[in-house]
Parts: sequence; C-alpha cells; structure tokens
Amino acid sequence: MDQSNYDYIIAGAGAAGLSLLCYLLAEENLAQKSILLIDSDLKKTNDRTWCFWQQEQGPFESCLESQWEKLMFHSPDFSEQVDIGPYKYKMLTSIAFYQHCFQLIEHHPKVVFKQDQITSIHPNGSVVGTKDSYKATYVFNSVFRNPAQSTHTHYLLQHFRGYFIETDQPTFDVEKPVLMDFRVEQDQDCRFVYVLPTSPYRALVEYTGFSTTMLESAQYDRALDGYIRTYLGLNDYRISHVESGVIPMTNAAFPVGEGAIVNIGTAGGATKASTGYTFSFIQKQCQAIARRLAFGQSPTSAERFKLNRFALYDRIFLRVLKEKKRPSWLVFNDLFKQLPAALILRFLSEETNVWEEFRLTNVMDKPTFILAALREATAH
Ligand SMILES: Cc1cc2nc3c(=O)[nH]c(=O)nc-3n(C[C@H](O)[C@H](O)[C@H](O)COP(=O)(O)OP(=O)(O)OC[C@H]3O[C@@H](n4cnc5c(N)ncnc54)[C@H](O)[C@@H]3O)c2cc1C
Repeated sequence: MDQSNYDYIIAGAGAAGLSLLCYLLAEENLAQKSILLIDSDLKKTNDRTWCFWQQEQGPFESCLESQWEKLMFHSPDFSEQVDIGPYKYKMLTSIAFYQHCFQLIEHHPKVVFKQDQITSIHPNGSVVGTKDSYKATYVFNSVFRNPAQSTHTHYLLQHFRGYFIETDQPTFDVEKPVLMDFRVEQDQDCRFVYVLPTSPYRALVEYTGFSTTMLESAQYDRALDGYIRTYLGLNDYRISHVESGVIPMTNAAFPVGEGAIVNIGTAGGATKASTGYTFSFIQKQCQAIARRLAFGQSPTSAERFKLNRFALYDRIFLRVLKEKKRPSWLVFNDLFKQLPAALILRFLSEETNVWEEFRLTNVMDKPTFILAALREATAH
C-alpha cells in the first residue's frame, strides 16, 4: 500500500483529469496540496482530437492545432458559410494536450503520476489498483461507467471515424472548415461529415453518425473515401492518421459521486446529451471544482451542474433523433437556415436566455417538437 495520504487523487489522466489538474495548480491557495494522478495509460499517443468553441482565450491556447472564425454548413437544401463571432472554433490534438499537462507536472514536486489499472474506488477515499492501493481526502474520478438506464431514458451513440488526409498539391481552403455536411447518404439515420483543414495540404475529415448502433467498420471507410472523392474531388490522397470513437448521448443521470468520490468528465455527466460535445463542459466543471476548493468549500456544488431546462431540451432533442419523425438533417437545416450560427452555438453551450431559446424553438418544426415535448412531459 502506498503509505502516503494524498489531499487529492485524480483517477484518470484524460481530458477531465488533466484539465482539473491544471486548474488546481493554477490556484495559489492549493499550492501545498499533494496530488496523485493515476492512469493505466501513459498518455503518449494521439488518441483523439477535441473541437470546441470558445469566446475567450482558454488555458490550452498554446497547444491548439488550428482555430477558425467561420464555418460551412451543407445540406441537400442549402450551403452557407456562417460567421460564428464572437466564438472561435478550436481544434486541439490530445497528444499536444497530454504533453502540455505532463510537462506542467514536472515543475510541481507535490504532484505524482502513477501508472496503474484502477479496480475499485471507495467513498472513504481509497483507490485500489492492480499494483497498489492509495488514499486521499477527495478522489476525482473520470473512469467511465455507463449510467443506469430506465424506460424513460434515451441512449444513442455518437460514433465516428476520422481520417487526417494529406495531399501533394494545395487542396484545402483553410478559411472554409465544414462543421456539418449532410449531403451524405442518411440511410434513415443522422449522418454527416465534417472537414477541418489545418493547412492547404492537410485536413481532418470525419464521418459521424447518431444512432442506437454502430456501423460495420468497412462502412465508415467506404463513406469517408466516397466523401473525399465526391465532395473534396480527391482521387489521390494519403491517410496520415485515423481516429475512431464512440460518445454516449444519454439523458440518464450520471452519479455526482459519493463520500470522497467526485465524478468528473464524461463519468461526471459533462457530455452534452444531445450533441456529444464534452470538452468545454469539462472546462467549466473542473474550473468550478478548483475554485470551490480554493475557497475552502466542498468541491461539489449543491446546485446541479446543468440547469434543468437545458436537460429538458436535451431529452426532447434525443427523442426527436431517436423517433426519426422528421429527418435529422432537416432538424439541423431548420436551425442553420434561419438563425445566426453564434446563437445556435450559445444555445448548445447552455448560455442562452429564455427569450433566445424561444427564438430557437420557434424555427423548429412545431408538430415534431411539440409532440416530443409532450411525450417527455408525460414520460415520468
Ligand atoms: C475519439 C474521440 C473524439 C472526441 N472528440 C470530441 C470533440 O471534438 N469535442 C468534444 O467536446 N468532445 C469530444 N469527445 C468526447 C470527450 O471530450 C472525450 O471523450 C474526453 O476525452 C472525455 O474526457 P474524460 O476525461 O471524461 O475521459 P477520458 O479522456 O477518456 O479520460 C479517462 C481516463 O481514464 C483512464 N482510465 C480508464 N479506465 C481506467 C482504469 N480502470 N484505471 C486507470 N485509468 C483508467 C483512461 O486511460 C483515460 O486516460 C471525443 C471522444 C472521443 C473518444
């Protein structure tokens, strides 16, 4: 048993664990706290790319791969370049983020990293791994477990595969990243591609679906190759890196924690149920935890992390996606055709006011959404 009793254990050194670490280290009041970071992985591979929008400069600005002020939206109905000011759409590769955070640890003698496979975490603050056992006042846990589902919850998967492609000739317009392109075959599902050019010679092209099941592996490859040939006009390209993933889209309640355990990241409910976007919510969640600790407060707030009305919108949206009464591409089309993109992004960031939300709901297809809202209201 590791005899040290740490102030904080951070279980999982992914987006949430490392973000929290950075926010804790930025708090002068917490400078003397001992922190143990545990992960089964050394975090030396580029296992994902995070995209998110932000108005202000964030703490990971120096690691950004690219950022854009305008985005393209394509559907079978219309194509438009939309201005997202005051936001910027940012792209961060996980390897740059991991390296940045691990370099920070080197300057902090009170932070220890241990590579271990965690087998259990207990409300008294003890963490059991395959190599050792550890103890702390608080355990910030991002080791994911699927939350319990009930007949009233929705559970969709956001599943995707992305190619980083390279060309010998200048091919991509770095001023025209594509947020969503719904011109691909929908197969009665919700499918789109996004294209993020980081230079005239290089872009991330990612094929994404929202559905209850994933596709066969070959289907992602076929769809990506077809898109690259048809819409990017490329017959000759190299794939320098492939990323695949699945993000849970569910309104099931993620447990906040118990006793000394505080769940963070996807495990702590930071994934927005209706979009799968998580990175920005992790930043808000972890920053708030560090601030409360610095003020000598409990790390979890008495108020829920998400405001209830946004949770309700998520539930309605998940039902609309699941029941497919209106083609999903049309749902996004209704929004992007009629409203400023910045308002849509602000809504998805859960930062709109009720009047703005009225504007948003007003452009949605009324029969579809009213029916879904009524079914949600009577589901409990
Ligand atoms: C490929 C991919 C791309 C994504 N892209 C975006 C995006 O563009 N924008 C966005 O907002 N969100 C995105 N997400 C969703 C979300 O932001 C990420 O999943 C994010 O990494 C979640 O952070 P986390 O800390 O909760 O989990 P993770 O980053 O997965 O961290 C969990 C950590 O726990 C460790 N771990 C797990 N089990 C154990 C164990 N038993 N013992 C020890 N360690 C353990 C893992 O090794 C990992 O390091 C993406 C997800 C994936 C999978």
